[in-house]
Amino acid sequence: MLILSTPEDVARFRQTGKKLALVPTMGNLHAGHLSLVRLAKQHADEVLVSIFVNRLQFGPNEDFDRYPRTFERDCALLEAEGCTAVLHPEESTLYPQPQQYFVEPPEALSDTLCGAFRPGHFRGVCTVVSKLFNLSRPDVAVFGLKDFQQFLILREMTRQMNHPIEIIGGEIVREADGLAMSSRNQYLDPAQRAEATRLYRLLQTATARLKAGDTWADVQAATQAELQANGWVPQYLEWRRDDNLQPCEQLPDVASRLLIAAFSGNTRLIDNLSL
Ligand code: AMP
Repeated sequence: MLILSTPEDVARFRQTGKKLALVPTMGNLHAGHLSLVRLAKQHADEVLVSIFVNRLQFGPNEDFDRYPRTFERDCALLEAEGCTAVLHPEESTLYPQPQQYFVEPPEALSDTLCGAFRPGHFRGVCTVVSKLFNLSRPDVAVFGLKDFQQFLILREMTRQMNHPIEIIGGEIVREADGLAMSSRNQYLDPAQRAEATRLYRLLQTATARLKAGDTWADVQAATQAELQANGWVPQYLEWRRDDNLQPCEQLPDVASRLLIAAFSGNTRLIDNLSL
């Protein structure tokens, strides 16, 4: 497995002209990331995984400094998975200073859900993913549906910016008890970790109630009350259309899902479930 760090490394790697799938990550890999690598392999000859903790997508009071960095272990996992190459750039390579150009996502997609609580987050995501696209010129890029809003924003960015790249979404990989895998789960203490499975159970109950005809107002209130009663600080619980993130009040004739974000202590967890 090749380790690429400079634009020259990537350009040399791309000379083979093989069909390439890019899987962007911030490292600290788990089975969710590895499922994306497997999915990527089904769509391309070679898989490039980028590992870069992107300062631009973190808010001033977020966990950029303490975000877990486990590069050696990540490489061992990727090698075992048959990944072709890892792109691990220096911050100064991806962000030559001063960086004055940014990719701004539309408010309709980015000022809601996570974006409402993390100003500038999706601008940081779109900017770094554009850079990764420009450097590696993949044919396919794979993103997890765990970050559903991110997936939608990046798919739309790719379309509107004419990147000739096919965007593929990978299903959420969960722990045995249902908790969506996340690098941030390791911030949880044992009691918080045991409690964390409630997020998924609540989503399951809520989607079942909506399908059975309960009103959204009742389901939303009951779900948030149960979270609060169990020590969570909810940020949002929303029911949105899959195609454009517009709110649903009753079962739409298009695919839709519930999306949730809540704090357990200082740890912010997100999850979503299709109806
Ligand atoms: P991150 O390293 O957290 O930026 O995530 C890199 C990619 O992995 C993103 O496309 C995420 O949506 C995806 N991802 C993270 N956790 C999971 C999961 N549990 N299941 C599937 N994909 C995931």
